[in-house]
Amino acid sequence: MSSPVFRFAPSPNGHLHLGHAYSALLNFEAARRLGGRFLLRVEDIDRTRCTPELEAAMMEDLHWLGLDWETPVLRQSERFAAYQTHLDTLTRLGLVTKSVLTRSEIKRFVVEQEQGGHVWPRDPDGAPLVPKDTAILSRDVIAERLESEANFALRLDMAKALDLLREVRPERLTWQEGGAGPDGLQQAVKTVSCDPSVWGDVVLARKDTPTSYHLSVVADDALQGVSDVLRGQDLYAATGVHRLLQTLLGLPEPLYRHHPLILGDDGRKLSKSTGSTSLRALRADGVTGADIRKRLGLG
Ligand code: GLU
Repeated sequence: MSSPVFRFAPSPNGHLHLGHAYSALLNFEAARRLGGRFLLRVEDIDRTRCTPELEAAMMEDLHWLGLDWETPVLRQSERFAAYQTHLDTLTRLGLVTKSVLTRSEIKRFVVEQEQGGHVWPRDPDGAPLVPKDTAILSRDVIAERLESEANFALRLDMAKALDLLREVRPERLTWQEGGAGPDGLQQAVKTVSCDPSVWGDVVLARKDTPTSYHLSVVADDALQGVSDVLRGQDLYAATGVHRLLQTLLGLPEPLYRHHPLILGDDGRKLSKSTGSTSLRALRADGVTGADIRKRLGLG
């Protein structure tokens, strides 16, 4: 059997914090323990928020933690043409719709629905599902915007995608979950059934960003032969979308392991703007990489 491939895939749009350190160390240690490979992938599709300076700082923080990875690293910003190929496949399958709704139109519509007493569906992250353009705009306005330089999003037509899925794969959509023990690897593997419709028409690309998180993550896990996706529990539900895209695009299915999140003192998920838990701030306070491992229970 070939050796397992693990990856840590952060976005350099801010400084890494303790939660990233936990995820990176779990992947690094799992690869080491199993004689596998450890890859760092730079998820920098957001060309306004991700910068070379933040990428350099991120690598410096990871080296300081004692991590090392294979080079060259894959940068998603260098792979837009490859994502386009996958998008073309989905388009050929008739599964991509172009939406010209603006964020504020969507927001206003949802508020109106809720004020009118309708329970508007929300995705597992709590965001309202997007309505179809025709629910808000007249056909003329849609046509006008499509002809103009207006912003747009390319979305997966979830209902059509699920219809096609039922044809090509009548059995239910599932993934293999290795669970999340303290070291991320101890649980028995179980089969998780998923229903990606809870996400609605997810974004695949936008006018100014020719891919999306969901599309690029499945493309790159496949390209890099990632066998074990070990990542935070906040992405657990997104795995349903990833399995759907993998099935539609004929990409292999990795084993997933979702680990618990490191929470702040307020009990909330850490964010890149939480200064006090950034690895830089801890380092400036004299904390060492070994202290971090101990603090995370990985000593
Ligand atoms: N780039 C994603 C993040 O920083 C992680 C992607 C993944 O592990 O699937 O949250």
